[in-house]
Amino acid sequence: MQPLILVVGGAGYIGSHTALALRDAGFRTLVLDDFSTGHRGALLGGDCVDVDLLDVRTLGDALRAHRPQAVVHFAARCYVGESVADPGLYYRNNVVGTMNLLEAMVAADVRRIVFSSTCATYGLPDRLPIEESCPQRPINPYGNTKLACEFLLHDFGRAHGVSSVALRYFNAAGADPGCRLGEDHRPEAHLIPLTLAAAAGRRGPLEIFGNDYPTPDGTCIRDYVHVSDLADAHVLALQSLMDGADGMRAFNLGNATGASVAEVVAACARVTGRDVPHVIVARRPGDPPRLIGSTERIERELGWRARRSSLEQIVATAWAWHERHPDGYAD
Ligand code: UDP
Repeated sequence: MQPLILVVGGAGYIGSHTALALRDAGFRTLVLDDFSTGHRGALLGGDCVDVDLLDVRTLGDALRAHRPQAVVHFAARCYVGESVADPGLYYRNNVVGTMNLLEAMVAADVRRIVFSSTCATYGLPDRLPIEESCPQRPINPYGNTKLACEFLLHDFGRAHGVSSVALRYFNAAGADPGCRLGEDHRPEAHLIPLTLAAAAGRRGPLEIFGNDYPTPDGTCIRDYVHVSDLADAHVLALQSLMDGADGMRAFNLGNATGASVAEVVAACARVTGRDVPHVIVARRPGDPPRLIGSTERIERELGWRARRSSLEQIVATAWAWHERHPDGYAD
């Protein structure tokens, strides 16, 4: 029998792509989700249990009943602005939820976990590209909660022998190249889906948050990585845990190259063959001018490669999914 992997938050954007990649790699998956932001349509018929990480009893029952060989954990709130306005929501969901999950895992003798972390744990980096050894000094509650979760992983490793990998994502984007899954946040706040919606005429003009940054074209630079490349990295991280890697390890997951907002808009215009109506507005508070991750460590230690992360591929797969699902998932 193939190992069973519990995918916590597997109805969300990155979680659903990873559940698919795990099944493609021969694992069995069980999604655990509370469907607060995830979509039933993203399960693609896979097994699922409807559980809130704050419901300790039901969570413990689920872990003991299914006894997965490992957990991949995505469930979290992930909007910087919302985290500033309502930090309690973020500490409760992200930190308390992760602590409950780790305690339920230990009680059920499940001791391997791959965790969704973020480049937001680095805050404003001193140098680029950002390496894993750079100081982690988040500048908002969202980043603080993810860093707190990394501390939990470290401490549960020491105390209870939980082995873990934290994957610090840069900007996840794109959609399953087979067009089975895509990006559907409600409300949508991410650049590429918003740009494509503007190109499709489903929204007003894209608002570009500032063009007076110290970058070549004045707009912010980010490191966009294809969601299916991210999903592959989770499979590799999990395999390393199954092969006996212990302790807590952290890897950046980006594309090691940057694209500016203006370059993303131009790529969307090229791929869609449409104009992208846009206006320049004020900077969004808290946006660093440039974030680019070094991916040397994950390439060296796990053999990961970004295979689909050219801006062209990212935008083309996202556009294909959005054209076929203009209103997102049916649910
Ligand atoms: N951005 C923008 N307009 C939007 C949404 C995003 O100009 O409507 C910019 C944002 O300032 C950042 C980049 O696009 O420089 C990526 O933003 P996103 O919210 O997608 O991801 P983040 O980098 O915040 O995680």
